[in-house]
Amino acid sequence: MLREQAGKLVHTSNLYGITLQEQLASRLAAISGMENVFFCNSGCEANEAAIKLARYYGHQKGIEAPAIVVMEKAFHGRTIATLSATGSRKVQAGFEPLVAGFVRVPFDDLDAVRRIAHNNRSVVAVMVELIQGEGGINVCHADYLHGLREICDAHGWFLILDEVQSGMGRTGTWFAFQNSGVEPDVMTLAKGLGNGIPIGACLAKGAAAKLFKPGSHGSTFGGNPFACAAALTTLAIIEDEGLMKNAVELGDFLRASFQSRLAGHAGVREIRGQGLMIGIELAQQCGELVQRALEAGLLINVTADTVIRLLPPLNFTREQGEMLVDTLVPLVEDFLARHNAPQAVAQSA
Ligand code: PLP
Repeated sequence: MLREQAGKLVHTSNLYGITLQEQLASRLAAISGMENVFFCNSGCEANEAAIKLARYYGHQKGIEAPAIVVMEKAFHGRTIATLSATGSRKVQAGFEPLVAGFVRVPFDDLDAVRRIAHNNRSVVAVMVELIQGEGGINVCHADYLHGLREICDAHGWFLILDEVQSGMGRTGTWFAFQNSGVEPDVMTLAKGLGNGIPIGACLAKGAAAKLFKPGSHGSTFGGNPFACAAALTTLAIIEDEGLMKNAVELGDFLRASFQSRLAGHAGVREIRGQGLMIGIELAQQCGELVQRALEAGLLINVTADTVIRLLPPLNFTREQGEMLVDTLVPLVEDFLARHNAPQAVAQSA
């Protein structure tokens, strides 16, 4: 499909209607309930668009210095605005001054957001990852999103969901918010959208969908026919091959397997996640496991210093899952034995 599209048309001026872009926008709107889509090339660009949209909204309401509530441990990208929105000093250090206009609160803490709502009249939006990926696979409580929606509605704020990592079927539904029954005003996508071909998207609905006019924002390559063909094919394959169901089943299997083999080990704090977004939190820094896993043929990551993060492909098989567990568990056990780990603090699913 990509070879075929590359032979036809890779890029064209947006002075022309781009049929594949229109098809992709309609498809994304249909599966998300959103109305408009702006296409770009990456997750940070999608978030830049969302930040600009929220600021634009603020200015339309007469707010001179609009602010966006963001979360501790959040990750939104590495451009200057998105690293300013990111809640990690590691990402920001060396690149100051940061962009103003972000108010940070602890993740999964509705009272902290309510306090901001009470004290700060310049806020125009809340921007949040439902499951913090880089921050360590932090899953919010079931009522968190409902609470955020209520606060946003009460104060006329946009609810912006960064689904760059959690979206595109990874948690078992097209988008993580669809597990909650709550809908955002703005949502950002990238990563799995193009399955390796660079494409990002910022989707909006309601008042948020009516703000930008032609010329308010733009991108030369965003939404080019090649990237849109890749995304349309990705969406079709996720649906046709039942990959969201697979994400749920494999995710349950992996978490249950790690739970039975690692929970109770001294030094294992928690095994958590949703679908194929899985975190195993240890009681100590464990970055060295990345190299050890690589030597054993596994590509894993360690985020937030202590969390082994697993993001297997959506077409991961049961056999591959068993191989992952059988390879990773002994590595973790060996790591814990060598580091003389302290007692386990808690285990939960
Ligand atoms: N938002 C989230 C939640 C992410 O996980 C990432 C990347 O890891 C980004 C945004 C940035 O995406 P990109 O690297 O495509 O700019």
